[in-house]
Amino acid sequence: MDDQAITLQAAQKFKDPKITAKGERRASVPLRDPQTLWFNTGTLCNIECVNCYILSSPTNDALVYMSATEVADYLDQLSARKWPVREIGFTGGEPYMNPEFNHMCRAALERGYEVLILTNAMRPMMRNSVKSGIEALVQEFGEKITFRISLDHWSAENHDKMRGKDSFAKTLEGMRWLNSIGAHLAAAGRQLWNEDDRSARDGYAKLYADNDFKIDAYNPGMTVLFPEMDEAVDVPEITVDCWGILNKSPNDIMCASSRMVVKRHGQAPSVVACTLLPYAEEFDLGHSLEEAEKDVALNHPHCAKFCVLGGASCSA
Ligand code: SF4
Ligand code: SF4
Repeated sequence: MDDQAITLQAAQKFKDPKITAKGERRASVPLRDPQTLWFNTGTLCNIECVNCYILSSPTNDALVYMSATEVADYLDQLSARKWPVREIGFTGGEPYMNPEFNHMCRAALERGYEVLILTNAMRPMMRNSVKSGIEALVQEFGEKITFRISLDHWSAENHDKMRGKDSFAKTLEGMRWLNSIGAHLAAAGRQLWNEDDRSARDGYAKLYADNDFKIDAYNPGMTVLFPEMDEAVDVPEITVDCWGILNKSPNDIMCASSRMVVKRHGQAPSVVACTLLPYAEEFDLGHSLEEAEKDVALNHPHCAKFCVLGGASCSA
């Protein structure tokens, strides 16, 4: 193909949910074994990181605050639909910006779910009223709650490049407080520092040892290192034949085992296919969990880049 034909074909990619630009059958993923239900508590955040995948900031409220009542409604639906979910995940924005956040956690914990909280452990979490709520939950539910703290890098210098001056020190202060009340900690970083996986994990291991954090730096589920998302890179589309060629199963892809609930401005909450595509309308499956049981067509570059070819996962 000449350059013009290649450009034309790239422009036709990820258009039709059933057929690829080359006319082949597009792959899809059935919801085979739902294990995690995520809630996006709202996109507002106390900081504005470079490359925040959901574009959170102190002013972006594209996804508005979820209420504890809305969360409880979806927990009821989980029981009614008999999804075998083990874990409720909360992400944002910064979840502790949401005034009802501790109530949501309690609702999930009281129903017997494990809870995973993605937080930057900064000022919103460190307000006295919020801290007392967290302490009560940790005392009552212990290791059923995991606080996965965003630490972009194990060094203050690199972390602050992404998150702003002094943010590393503030996050460490929050982690030390969580550690002091016996909270179960994990961490999430980014792989963009031109260091190999082993050196990165050695850096985190030293940081944890220096602070007496009981986090395993060498367990990818406890210290999660996410690849960078380069929106500009051209990727192939995933066809039904790819599973055999790549020796992969659709059951291993994140949308086979999870969904995320989001709330857009002026709308009732709805369920999207995964945490990676909170804004893509095509991946909005409907308001109820029943509607969200449909198959997901892999009709986005992220599907190829991060899930089928790259193996990214947002779940601990
Ligand atoms: S703390 Fe998290 S949600 Fe907030 S801007 Fe940074 S990456 Fe985004
Ligand atoms: S980005 Fe990944 S998890 Fe999300 S719909 Fe595509 S394949 Fe599924």
